Amino acid sequence: MHIFSTPAEMRAWSDARRATGRRIGFVPTMGALHTGHLALIADAADRTDDVVVSIFVNPLQFNEVGDFNGYPRPIDDDVAACEQAGVAAVFAPTAAAMYPTGFQTRVVPGPLGAVMEGPKRPGHFEGVLTVVVKLFGAVRPHVAVFGQKDYQQLRIITQMAADLEFGIDVVGHPIVRDPDGLAQSSRNVRLTDAERAAAVAVPRSLDAAIAAAGAGDAVADVIGAATSVIDAEDAALLEYVTVFDAITLIEFDDLADVPPMPGIARIATAVWFGDVRLIDNRDLFELSDA
Ligand code: AMP
Repeated sequence: MHIFSTPAEMRAWSDARRATGRRIGFVPTMGALHTGHLALIADAADRTDDVVVSIFVNPLQFNEVGDFNGYPRPIDDDVAACEQAGVAAVFAPTAAAMYPTGFQTRVVPGPLGAVMEGPKRPGHFEGVLTVVVKLFGAVRPHVAVFGQKDYQQLRIITQMAADLEFGIDVVGHPIVRDPDGLAQSSRNVRLTDAERAAAVAVPRSLDAAIAAAGAGDAVADVIGAATSVIDAEDAALLEYVTVFDAITLIEFDDLADVPPMPGIARIATAVWFGDVRLIDNRDLFELSDA
């Protein structure tokens, strides 16, 4: 497995592979790899010939210094996990290699970035899009796999790739969960044991909302069902829960005209446990055997 630390080295390898007709799959990550990331790698491997994984804790997308500094960085474990997963190349640049003196360009999302996480995390999606464009430029993939865990991010990147003619197939992979339902996240390791136990309230809150939606309840009651599960958990502090159009991300204030079918409406939430912020989302009308 190759390990590259500059965009130029990464691109040279990728261009050489492309020249032989190989298709490149790409999984961008911030490291601290878990089985959610490994599922994305397996998905990319199914679709392409050579998988590249980037490991870069992108300073541009953090809106809190504490979150950036506290973000786990087990690089040796991550490299071993990539090797084990059959990854062809790891791209692990330094911040100086990605943002050398004089770097100044930013990529700005459209209205998809103005809702949900956008206002809560000023500058976040601009930082995400800017790094993703840079990573795409270095890795030059045919296919890039992102998790539905960060559903808004997936939508914004899909839109950007289409709007700007990247010619990259952006694929969304379903959320990988722990056995109790908590979505896997690199931030989960920062939870205390008590907080980790309490965090099951997050997927349970979405279960409650989905059950309410399935019973034909109004949006306020669907959100109320989720809210009461979080509010019943002392260690949890709800930041938001919202029901929205799966494509435009525009909030629904009424479900009366929304067909109760998969792929139309989603519910997303952000919940704090101490200083750790967890996000989750689900299809509001997913098939029960999905
Ligand atoms: P991160 O390292 O957290 O920036 O995540 C890198 C990629 O993995 C992103 O596309 C995430 O959406 C995706 N991802 C993270 N956690 C999960 C999960 N539990 N299930 C599916 N995809 C995930």
